[in-house]
Amino acid sequence: TSFEDFKFNKQLLNAIAEAGYSVPTEIQEKGIPPILAGQDVMGIAQTGTGKTAAFVLPLLMNLKYAQGNDPRALILSPTRELAMQIEEHIQLFSTYLDLRTIVLYGGLGPKTQKELLAKGCDIVVATPGRFLDLYLAGDINTKSLKVLVMDEADKMVDMGFISKLHRILEVIPRKRQNLLFSATMSELVRKIAGDFLAFPTVIEV
Ligand code: AMP
Repeated sequence: TSFEDFKFNKQLLNAIAEAGYSVPTEIQEKGIPPILAGQDVMGIAQTGTGKTAAFVLPLLMNLKYAQGNDPRALILSPTRELAMQIEEHIQLFSTYLDLRTIVLYGGLGPKTQKELLAKGCDIVVATPGRFLDLYLAGDINTKSLKVLVMDEADKMVDMGFISKLHRILEVIPRKRQNLLFSATMSELVRKIAGDFLAFPTVIEV
């Protein structure tokens, strides 16, 4: 398989080539087609397997271009470090696409994040607590969200984010695509996956 085999456009393929990616990893090969097709996907994959690009690439392709003011995709990350890594992947691959991304995490002044949100965006990458704070303050409109990604679900559980995640589920549209990634599969991860995903394609690498 090569990246040309996926239904990606020229702009995305150019950015992938410039990033030096030539062969998709296993999680990318198996995960990209169902994600592109709009299905719910649960990926069991460790860091280092290429899981970030496995969801970022089809997500960018599906969003295509900037639209409206409110985010259409929400990517939840347990830590600010991971949120920043995800955002770096998005920036790298959206070089030739017209998409706006905002990363939100605790520790950064909320005022700056509010100002960024007010300018409009297509993708929000956030830690659960900061996302909820800004949502409850009225700074984020969730009505246009079409895709929810939960990265490192096992770490989310370990860090005690379960109730925040359930609260987030209550304030976003019910009809949406869900992607969940986890390095391990515990009982609690299985539970949260059951709450998040509808008939997911499960990929284990
Ligand atoms: P991740 O598992 O998403 O943390 O990715 C681990 C590392 O592998 C990152 O530095 C990625 O940029 C890199 N990577 C992911 N997919 C590919 C690929 N298909 N070809 C080359 N490098 C890749």
